[in-house]
Amino acid sequence: MDESDAGSRLSSAADPHAAASVVVSARAVERFRAGHPWIYRQDVVAVGDGAPGSIVRIRGPRGVALGTGLYSERSRIAVRRWTVEGDPADPGDLWRTRLARADDYRRALGFDTVYRVVHGEADLLPSLVVDRYGDYLVIQTLSQATDRLRERLVGALVERFQPAGVVARNDPRVRELEGLARTVEVAYGDVPSVVPIEIDGVLQEVDLRHGQKTGLFLDQCENRSAAARYAHGRLLDAFSYDGGFTLRLARHCDSVVSLDSSEDAVARLGRNAALNAIGNVEARSVNVFDELRVLDRRRERFDTIVLDPPAFAKTRSAVPRARAAYKEINLRALRLLAPGGVLVSCTCSSHMSEPDFLEIVRDAAADARVQVTLVEKRTQGRDHPVLLALPESYYLKCLVLRVLGSG
Ligand code: SAH
Repeated sequence: MDESDAGSRLSSAADPHAAASVVVSARAVERFRAGHPWIYRQDVVAVGDGAPGSIVRIRGPRGVALGTGLYSERSRIAVRRWTVEGDPADPGDLWRTRLARADDYRRALGFDTVYRVVHGEADLLPSLVVDRYGDYLVIQTLSQATDRLRERLVGALVERFQPAGVVARNDPRVRELEGLARTVEVAYGDVPSVVPIEIDGVLQEVDLRHGQKTGLFLDQCENRSAAARYAHGRLLDAFSYDGGFTLRLARHCDSVVSLDSSEDAVARLGRNAALNAIGNVEARSVNVFDELRVLDRRRERFDTIVLDPPAFAKTRSAVPRARAAYKEINLRALRLLAPGGVLVSCTCSSHMSEPDFLEIVRDAAADARVQVTLVEKRTQGRDHPVLLALPESYYLKCLVLRVLGSG
């Protein structure tokens, strides 16, 4: 089936006569009614003519109609919620409507040049990510359905944003679970090797093809601004990447030490600092675990520390080891802080719940023998909303903590 066929199926999504349908288990019916966006393959009882990536009608065990979903014949997530029975008839191009709604919501909050435009399920656009970097867009089509519609989606984005270029950054590993190739392509216009952007007064050069995620960690933008309100004295930015926190906080601090294992990221951080005429940053390419121990041994002191590690728990089974790693870095950081010092401690692992993470930091404080207050609890930026029915979409936790002096 070609692109336009896929489109016509999408436009008839709410058509009760749409041919393809899946029958799902009673358990899936319950979960669907509670608002969960996914139906797992083991809950699919029968599939009638579901073409990969097509819209299918969803029915319960006794034939009751639930709504429609995006079908994948490969992934463990067999169907992604699209419409619910009783929704008004499809206005023709639900993709376009939801895309506009997602962007309007962000614009109303004041996001204007660099932000996540579409955050998948949380915008009722399952498995679709769109990030905006000024005049350029990055799109990720992470399931068979969104991938089939890529050209149409790019068309809709071009119409709305009139970008200079769009990159299809389809290299995430999840694409393999859908039987899709991992590729990076320019889907529209021209995209230079680095794109200059400005966020909250900081200039940065972003590599949309090779940078982590879609170029930057946009989900931390609002947390960087929040951290800037506490930053003072000597700053340690651990897991700095190319300087997200460093560049935003450097102006509020006397001096900055930034640590990241990636030499590329450290080199880019240096270039970004120069671009902003920031001269108080020393960036080192080291292993944070080793370096924290060295700094502790040397009895170095910091007034502000940011810990923004990669997800240590990528799977549920990795949680016990991850807990130990989070505790280790938080313990070291708390020991390195001067009285009155501030720790901004993050985890971006969806398997690490907020209560678990708080407990780890509490244990770390006890072992470091310091009294700590919790000043702010934060999460991913508002352009990356959490879908309540999908608890794992609450992935980023960012605690702002203050070490009390004992004197
Ligand atoms: N704070 C950054 C994002 C950090 S992402 C920002 O605001 O943009 C996590 C970073 O940790 C990556 O850049 C990765 O290179 C780095 N990293 C992973 N393991 C590391 C380790 N053991 N030591 C130092 N850096 C590490």
